[in-house]
Amino acid sequence: MATGCDTFVALGNSTITKSTIFAKNSDRPKDECQTLIEVPRLNHETNSIVKCQFIEIPQSETTYRHFGSQPYWLWGYEHGFNEHQVVIGNEAVHSKFPDNISPGLLGMDLVRLGLERGNSASSAVNIITNLISKYGQGKFTKNHKSSNYDNSFIVADPNEAYIVEAANKEWVTKKIDSTIGISNIYSINTDWTNISSTAKQTSIENKWYIESQERLDFFKTFSNDEIKGVKEGRGEFRRIRSCTYLNLFKGKLDLNIFLSLLKDHSNGENPSENIQLNYSNNRSICMHYGENSISNTAASLIADLSQDKNRTAIYWCSLYTPCIGIFIPIFCEGNLPEKLSLKSKEFSKETLWWKFHSINKKINEDNNTKSSKTEFVRSSFLPIQKTFIKDSYIIAKEAQTLINSGQKIKANNLLSEYMNNSFKKVYNLTEEINKLI
Ligand SMILES: [Zn+2]
Repeated sequence: MATGCDTFVALGNSTITKSTIFAKNSDRPKDECQTLIEVPRLNHETNSIVKCQFIEIPQSETTYRHFGSQPYWLWGYEHGFNEHQVVIGNEAVHSKFPDNISPGLLGMDLVRLGLERGNSASSAVNIITNLISKYGQGKFTKNHKSSNYDNSFIVADPNEAYIVEAANKEWVTKKIDSTIGISNIYSINTDWTNISSTAKQTSIENKWYIESQERLDFFKTFSNDEIKGVKEGRGEFRRIRSCTYLNLFKGKLDLNIFLSLLKDHSNGENPSENIQLNYSNNRSICMHYGENSISNTAASLIADLSQDKNRTAIYWCSLYTPCIGIFIPIFCEGNLPEKLSLKSKEFSKETLWWKFHSINKKINEDNNTKSSKTEFVRSSFLPIQKTFIKDSYIIAKEAQTLINSGQKIKANNLLSEYMNNSFKKVYNLTEEINKLI
């Protein structure tokens, strides 16, 4: 099954706050539960191994503290962030290579490995590309209802951002200079920064090699745009939409613009139009499920990074459909509420993700998201969302002041308590909404 996803980033030269902002909608099978997990910094014994989804590889000496958005059955993540403010998200793309017959690393494994081992965007890019060269991207085994695919990634930190695009064991990277969006389609032609040492030879052997001014055109050489997923999911339109919209607001970009863009229902045919909130198709950046669709946005992230020591980074996380949900502020320097990390294959009334799923389902029964139910849900979340936006930046400053003066534990308590209270507010509200609609 082809799934979607959209990922974008703006560097500090394009945002009001001068900080990098990264965002992703993770689009997955519509009933696949996904939520955030927290993993502490760990030291590992020499020569130990790490078991990824389908293969084992040598473990690194240290794995960094990180948070990842994890589908219930996977080892890897759709997106996540670590203690060094490295943020990574991936996209499914389709190359001309035939499906791998042996297991390798999944794109979601690579997201996790980059977060565990990268202390900057550039080091995470090196880690990911080295792993791709060595292990390749493997197939899903045992019919996990997922199609095989290659991957592209955005890897960002407070100062830099990169795109990595891969086809089997070949890859290119591109350093971003201001803003960019990626979707389910390759985007790098000859404008790459680095390329795998075997890309040219491999493409010549396969009779795919296309160049322009003596540089390999990665998109033209490796992309298989005949694959249904690319056209049906309209990755090209979604990518043009996010790139155009971010470009329109370059220099004025802030959290609110990223919030709006993840909720957007534009079909991308008029990429500079205003944000469209009315549900009209399920091929937009907010992949919002209808009667016949198979995918839905499962989780979203906006990472509002911090370039100075004035505040901590704030990671805004939403579960299920972003245009009828709420983004909860998460802090890497605190501890996640345990109940927020609950996930399960089947419906569970304790699980926040399933509560949002249920709200979506009830709205969908009307088969019309312009209905009063949609408006009711949106207006129910809005006051709390506004409070979160107002309060979280104050808390982020307080916590950073504590950290700067060596009071890490106090900062941890402050942030953990704040996250716990925020979680409870959202959890209780989803219960109430579920009763009322
Ligand atoms: Zn939507």
